[in-house]
Amino acid sequence: MASSSVTALSVRGYLAHTSETKSIGMTRVFDEDLTAGFGTRAIHAGQRPEPLAGAIMTPIYLTSTYVQDGLGQNKGYEYARGKNPTREAFERNIAALENGRHGFAFASGMGCLDSIMKLFRAGDHIICAENVYGGTFRLFDKILQHMGLSFTYVDTRDPQRVADAMTKSTRAVLLETPSNPLMRLTDIAAVADIAHRGGALLIVDNTFASPYFQRPLELGADIVFHSTTKYLNGHSDMIGGCAVVRDDDLGDRLKFIHNAAGAVAGPFDAWLALRGTKTLHLRMRQHDANGREIATWLAEKLGHENVYYIGLPSHPQYELACRQMSGFGGMISVELGTWDRAAHLLGKVRVFALAESLGGVESLISQPAGMTHASVPPERRAAMGLSDGLVRLSCGVEDVGDLLADLEQAFEGIPSRLAGNGKREAGETPTATPSPAPARSIA
Ligand code: PLP
Repeated sequence: MASSSVTALSVRGYLAHTSETKSIGMTRVFDEDLTAGFGTRAIHAGQRPEPLAGAIMTPIYLTSTYVQDGLGQNKGYEYARGKNPTREAFERNIAALENGRHGFAFASGMGCLDSIMKLFRAGDHIICAENVYGGTFRLFDKILQHMGLSFTYVDTRDPQRVADAMTKSTRAVLLETPSNPLMRLTDIAAVADIAHRGGALLIVDNTFASPYFQRPLELGADIVFHSTTKYLNGHSDMIGGCAVVRDDDLGDRLKFIHNAAGAVAGPFDAWLALRGTKTLHLRMRQHDANGREIATWLAEKLGHENVYYIGLPSHPQYELACRQMSGFGGMISVELGTWDRAAHLLGKVRVFALAESLGGVESLISQPAGMTHASVPPERRAAMGLSDGLVRLSCGVEDVGDLLADLEQAFEGIPSRLAGNGKREAGETPTATPSPAPARSIA
């Protein structure tokens, strides 16, 4: 993609021009870590035995500042917002997993995205995939557009629509693939090419796939980011985010924002996430195995058209999934047709827990319209096909037999016409107006 790299250079030029700032020094992967396989990187990348006692686990550096040897003389650490050794180990680790060069750990996925968006300035135009996490839409719609950024929402399943939406002021294209919660895919390489031809960056939220199954930087993306709250940490015991880039100039700008805006990950959260990534490859394989089996079972029960799982050959973008991913993971959405049916199912599960979030070892179930995507206006949700009857499952790594048995008993109360043949009743369409009104989630 020679033309892409030429235009990407001009984007970096633009970013450098917007700021006369220099970072305080970035975290950079250890190059030798990049020669190892994924599992070895997951366990070792970014980490070296601690020099004092040789502790194999990276210590949690609970400190706000570092004693300096003399004025202007320090060990590379001045103040912990800028650098923390525990955070650095995690940043190197995730950078290696994404096959990037510079990693940045944030206090949350949203804090990470907010900091990424500070690369841009008033007047800049951003193309965003129409199906993204509700909080991403809320950040853009309720905050950033009032600060002068403009957004166009596009169905990025069709790269041509991205090309058509590009303007002279477009500085970035942002997408999730697979998307939350409709499991839509975007051809990363094709959209990277379009973005670069127009002098824009491609930013990919890789939370659903994890770097074990998909590495957007290898496909041409400029920035990959995650809610590390999800698969990367994997144990539902912290909130965090991270961004990874390959380009040194872009990394330098992000590092400056990281320190200047300060939404950094705390050392304990960084340590938890670092412990989590050690088993990422093992967990993802089991999420994937359970996801495939449960999706197949659901498709038999509800009909393939009512089950959104990228690993089912009936998924309209199955071929793209096989091309740009090496597995499919544990995220499934099912269309139950009505809010009442969704509420019924969510009220009956025993092993699946009714909760926001995803990607942990335990299985979770949620109703996106009333929970994770409550901040997206109902007409917008309806337009993109996110109905009140849509239920999202995050398949954990429990014994799959127990998960299937749980679903079997939970589906029992759902009208047999749906549970039996997987079809909605004749004339019945997915509702956009909930009944009764769901709680408004702040997630
Ligand atoms: N991206 C995706 C795909 C998400 O699902 C979420 C949260 O659910 C976020 C970003 C935001 O991450 P966080 O909750 O860690 O701020």
